[in-house]
Amino acid sequence: MINLEKEYVLATYERLPFVLAKGEGSFLYDTEGNKYLDFGAGIAVNALGHCHPDVVNAITGQAHTLNHVCNLYHTAPHAQLARMLCDLSFADKVFFSNSGAEANEAAIKFARKHARVKYGEGKTKLIAFSNGFHGRTFGALSVTDREKYQAPFRPLVPDVRILPYNDVSAVEQAMDDTVCAVIVEVVQGEGGIYPAEKGFMRALRKACDQHHALLIIDEIQSGMGRTGKLWAHEHYDIEPDMMTLAKALGGGLPIGATLMTEQVAWSIGVGDHGSTFGGNPVVASAALAVLKKVHRPELLSHVKQMGAYLVDKLSEIKTDQIEEIRANGLMVGVSLAKEAKPYYRNAHQFGILILTAGEHVIRLLPPLTVTRQEIDLFIQSFEQLLQADIKENHGAQ
Ligand SMILES: *Cc1c(COP(=O)(O)O)cnc(C)c1O
Repeated sequence: MINLEKEYVLATYERLPFVLAKGEGSFLYDTEGNKYLDFGAGIAVNALGHCHPDVVNAITGQAHTLNHVCNLYHTAPHAQLARMLCDLSFADKVFFSNSGAEANEAAIKFARKHARVKYGEGKTKLIAFSNGFHGRTFGALSVTDREKYQAPFRPLVPDVRILPYNDVSAVEQAMDDTVCAVIVEVVQGEGGIYPAEKGFMRALRKACDQHHALLIIDEIQSGMGRTGKLWAHEHYDIEPDMMTLAKALGGGLPIGATLMTEQVAWSIGVGDHGSTFGGNPVVASAALAVLKKVHRPELLSHVKQMGAYLVDKLSEIKTDQIEEIRANGLMVGVSLAKEAKPYYRNAHQFGILILTAGEHVIRLLPPLTVTRQEIDLFIQSFEQLLQADIKENHGAQ
């Protein structure tokens, strides 16, 4: 299988040298029978762990009755999911797509249209932040401040300005009436687990209000209970005009959602945007099952407790490798003195799967259902991994 992939799959990813065959709860199993404790959870996708029975039942049940119809028809799961997302957030309306990048793409388009309809020409500027990540399609890439990702594909979408993250005065200076939207992560995920400061988020909300710009919060990684609140922006006592979701929402199936206020929805009409699969009945049923679980106070307080426990246990590790631990709930970054990649590449040999974020940060995103015992088990192996004499190798041989 590894050779087949090498021969036929475009090499945009470096894959680890094993083939996964099965998942159950917090564990994954490869074709050789090796077991891995998964602290990456599909990059924050498998919030309820692997093959959670509620998600499996929702998918199989819906698959038996109606798999797909296009968006020219009404279906129940689509409508019910939209209502539940609105009931549980600031939003009045939802647009469904198939990925995080697409959810942001839609948000950017809606912001441009909203500004044009309401304020006329010339209000097209998008503000985004250093070290942010919003996806790989052209619009999403244009607001993703990463030279390596952008350089090969320029020219990008015009009229984007990148400001330093967590810098209130930069925002106050740069904001004017030509800005149609500001897009921001409340906790930068790919960038290395950097939470936004309270004053910064409040300043963004204020500047957007002053200049009639929309505040788009990208909760693709931080949302769905990951930080111990259903939405990470609830830690900040502010509300966005739009919020984008993906990753955990689909329970492992592809989905993107762009949530918005009535104000924004008002400017969008029939034919302005679309998606063949958006709101697909099987995917929407899976998302309903996930949402019904993650919004519960018991689960959210479990996330807070397990997040604090994981950070405590990480802090107790006796090593000079760890420089800083940053966390919000079960979104945890372990900043190292050395490069993080070699640890990521070797972790599977210790029975654990981890992620990186940026060059020096090990990123941990266990399932939200992770138990204390699983964290203890993880810490044992993680300690051994940090102590091992890791030599630079190149992953998949
Ligand atoms: C993963 C991610 C995206 C992109 O989502 P895709 O589904 O990979 O397109 C966008 N924003 C944030 C914050 C993410 O973590």
